[in-house]
Amino acid sequence: MKFLDKYKGLKPSAKEMAAVAEYLWHKGWAERNAGNMSVRLGDMIVDPDVLKDAKQIPLDRAYPSLAGQFLLLSGSDTRMRNLAKKPAKNTCLIHIGEEGKDYRIFKDAASILPTSELPTHLAIHQQLIWDGRKEKALLHTHVNEVIALTQIAEYCSKDSIDNLLWGMHPETIMFIPDGIGFVPYTLPGTDEIAEKTLRALKGHRVIIWEKHGCLAVGEDLFECFDQIDILAKSANIFFTCRNAGFEAEGMTTEQLNEIKNINNANL
Ligand SMILES: [Zn+2]
Repeated sequence: MKFLDKYKGLKPSAKEMAAVAEYLWHKGWAERNAGNMSVRLGDMIVDPDVLKDAKQIPLDRAYPSLAGQFLLLSGSDTRMRNLAKKPAKNTCLIHIGEEGKDYRIFKDAASILPTSELPTHLAIHQQLIWDGRKEKALLHTHVNEVIALTQIAEYCSKDSIDNLLWGMHPETIMFIPDGIGFVPYTLPGTDEIAEKTLRALKGHRVIIWEKHGCLAVGEDLFECFDQIDILAKSANIFFTCRNAGFEAEGMTTEQLNEIKNINNANL
């Protein structure tokens, strides 16, 4: 816990990351090195002077709105089951350079590189800032039931998957009233999936990547996890009914509207 112990401000985020990593592993959503997460910590977590000797690593594109920010990320090629036990050895603290064109890795943690999905994480964090949103955490994981659902062509669109998942359980529309952003199958780790994800994030906090998994943004990683868990619950109910030999009936439009109206009244 060397660098986590040295800078106390990091500990809550690292503990949160470890706790969520454990959930993902126990859910069976984190095979091998699957999944990644990040938390934007702001600009005061560590005195940037301690990084002055660290190597500057160039980024393929600039993220000017992230200049000077610290981010804690899951490490490249790490396992969630290991991150859960030893966050200091499986996470990476980075500091984005002054113009957002490069980053430095905090030296005590320099043996671990950030997740290979770093460009997608940075693009999303920058977009959240541009849009004035309060979310600072990002989680991507491979949710079995949701991936299975996107193996069924008729549910591979935003409207059809919203209606299906909302209809399985009242809490889905209660806690995810804006529905789900849907990204049709796209090669992982590419600029194309990052761009489609940024578009899908407009007005949404949780996204489904067809045949791949889920991505959520939240004020912290627990909030990200909860949103994904709600979708998993709904997808699970759909398949439980199907496995029992009948199709889930779903809720009626009137029943869904009734919950929407309660939600709106409480805003
Ligand atoms: Zn993935």
